[in-house]
Amino acid sequence: MALGLLALGSVSARAYKRATVDGTTDIYLYWSVRRVDYYVNHRGSEDVSLQEALGAIRRSFFTWAAPSCTDVYFNFAGMTTTDRSNLSSPQSDPDKKNVIIWREEAWPPAGATDDGSVTSDMAALTVIVYNADSGEIIDADIDLNGHDFFWTTTDDKTKSATDVQNVVTHEAGHLIGFAHSSVPEATMFGATPQGELDKRVLHQDDLDALCTVYPYDAPTPLGPDQPSPKGEVQGATGCAAAGGATARAGAVTALLFFALAALALAGARALRRRRRRAR
Ligand SMILES: [Zn+2]
Repeated sequence: MALGLLALGSVSARAYKRATVDGTTDIYLYWSVRRVDYYVNHRGSEDVSLQEALGAIRRSFFTWAAPSCTDVYFNFAGMTTTDRSNLSSPQSDPDKKNVIIWREEAWPPAGATDDGSVTSDMAALTVIVYNADSGEIIDADIDLNGHDFFWTTTDDKTKSATDVQNVVTHEAGHLIGFAHSSVPEATMFGATPQGELDKRVLHQDDLDALCTVYPYDAPTPLGPDQPSPKGEVQGATGCAAAGGATARAGAVTALLFFALAALALAGARALRRRRRRAR
């Protein structure tokens, strides 16, 4: 029976994708701890109240922690005054604080590499610093584009512009190591139309990813040549290996960028301009 189930699992179609170490196809990015702390920049968003923003962000993370198949969980560690993110600061020195920050003044934010890869049609970017040997995630930050997008938290689709929970639920999937899915209905699909709320709720494809990669009381499956995390997997010291990586700077840490592209951006920009004029 067990064999039968395994065989079924191995042939069933799956569309989710795990992020991999750059240049490899089977060294997966993952957290070697199941408790992931995150901080929110104290300024929040210009478009919604801090309370609304925090509520939406917390619901976004809870969505990934709620299914009983997993024991991954996210701890809101508090507000932070830091403006640093992996996008705006050099990769060689990650602060190991997972930060969610709106960028209102400029997109890409000051300090980011301005090589044209960060474009104004990106509603959000998650940038992951990881150990390039093991795939262990060291630091993952989410930058939200407040410069070009108008953010909302309403449940009313007809009034929604760029929904905080819709986008952050998607970005939270990146933060734990998922790449874009090919299923258009999935939370991890890489584009969002204006007003979309559907990504707030995980699709079966997202659940397949979550339950496979962070199974309850069981280790994360790794690629065939992927080294296991050093020492104890669980607990607060899980970043020990990452510490070594950071000390060796750029040699073993690497960055991965994920952007959530917006569909129908023209509408978003018009809304943004109207709002700015009204101020
Ligand atoms: Zn994305």
